[in-house]
Amino acid sequence: MPENKVRKYFSLIEAWAWCDICEDMIALRLDKDEIISGLKMGIYTKEHKHYNLSPDLEDPDDASGQEHTIYIYINDNYDITGVKSFFGESPTTEEIGAESLEAGDEVRIPVIVKDISPMAVQLGMLTKEQFKVLKICDGMNTIEQVATIAQRSVEDLEKMMDQLRKKGLVRVIKRT
Ligand SMILES: [Zn+2]
Repeated sequence: MPENKVRKYFSLIEAWAWCDICEDMIALRLDKDEIISGLKMGIYTKEHKHYNLSPDLEDPDDASGQEHTIYIYINDNYDITGVKSFFGESPTTEEIGAESLEAGDEVRIPVIVKDISPMAVQLGMLTKEQFKVLKICDGMNTIEQVATIAQRSVEDLEKMMDQLRKKGLVRVIKRT
């Protein structure tokens, strides 16, 4: 799969994100202001609904002509660190865990339990990094995927998850 790509301009970002459903790059223009206001929460998530204008009509499994969503995770350097493609409101646990199962790993999906305001960071209750990671625990990512999006090692992330769990902020859904 081709790499996600961004071109950074003064007030906007041109982004190309890989959609697994279209099996193609999706081009987007994002306002920097929009990203910056979203980034106050550590990571910016862009939700983009679309459908493939030229699906493969000879492939019965190609459903890309139907509307679906990509979720694009963008960091404070305006780089894309993760993309999710799915139909409906959110991906299923099976879809989220497919990568882990293929690798023979247990599927662990961290989910935020309590919504925390950015104030918690100012008050010293959470570090910036913990706050950013919490935001990626949107129920659409395994621990390994959260690590990739947050650009941290899985070991690092497991440690952080333990701390966040002890604070009662996340729970980890497991599937084998
Ligand atoms: Zn698509």
